[in-house]
Amino acid sequence: MGEEEGTAVNNPVGIHAGVWIGQWTSESTRWAIDQTLAAGFDLIEITATDVDSIDAAAVARAIQKTKLSCSVSLGLTFDADVSSEDSQIRARGATRLHHALRLAQKVGSRQLVGVLYSALGKYQGPASERSWRNSAAAIRELAVEARAAGIELALEVVNRYETNLFNEVFGALRFLDEVGEENVRIHLDTYHMNIEEPDFALPVAAAGDRLGYVHVGESHRGYLGAGNIRWAEFFRFESFSNTVVDPALSNTLAVWRNLWTDNADLAAQARASIRAHLGAAYRARARGQAARDDGQQSADGETN
Ligand code: MN
Repeated sequence: MGEEEGTAVNNPVGIHAGVWIGQWTSESTRWAIDQTLAAGFDLIEITATDVDSIDAAAVARAIQKTKLSCSVSLGLTFDADVSSEDSQIRARGATRLHHALRLAQKVGSRQLVGVLYSALGKYQGPASERSWRNSAAAIRELAVEARAAGIELALEVVNRYETNLFNEVFGALRFLDEVGEENVRIHLDTYHMNIEEPDFALPVAAAGDRLGYVHVGESHRGYLGAGNIRWAEFFRFESFSNTVVDPALSNTLAVWRNLWTDNADLAAQARASIRAHLGAAYRARARGQAARDDGQQSADGETN
């Protein structure tokens, strides 16, 4: 057991299934799970964009044979968008969310995450007040249904080219207030933070206990450490929250430059990098706590 493993890092570290596979056939499911285990991850994120094509029972059986846990993620589309002003489009969005929640339940996921509140794509203008309220109402309804199933929702904060409802943490917090359900939390992604946020610490601190899920992605969605993200700044704060970390490398989001070809190598490097950063952040926190305890003791000594 190395120093890294010896440090109490209790955040489960996961990987986006998109690193391994594009479709959930029985063969690819087994492959994705084997690769995830081999790379040393705790969790696999199942993308449910094409939710009806996934054989939930088969995926559940494959995962249950292992010690892996899973999450389910989703981004809506423009023809099924709960923020739409068109009631038919909204209804399709609500149905898709409902199906994704059923999938999460069937595969044993405790979390449904992603852009659940909007289409994942470039809108032609800012969101109207009505869109905002339509979306909040749909998320509220989903949250009530999710709570009955013991599932938490986490709304991903994405950049301006991928939604128009909110693009930074304070907008997301306002939206959460509008939804008003406790099992709805914030999902941050360092790739988007790099575009929209002032730094990597403030959004984590601002989300605080309401942070439910994190995607760890480099500024170009390639190898961690090979881009612009200030990892030490991010992890110093991230380690204070109880979140899932996921090196997300979405194949749907304008990733048409080949930044990696060897997915096993990428995954192993990502996991090692996340564990090292989390370990360093936990050690720094422990040192800070020890220093505070010492200070407290000498202060006590003086008064006694
Ligand atoms: Mn993401």
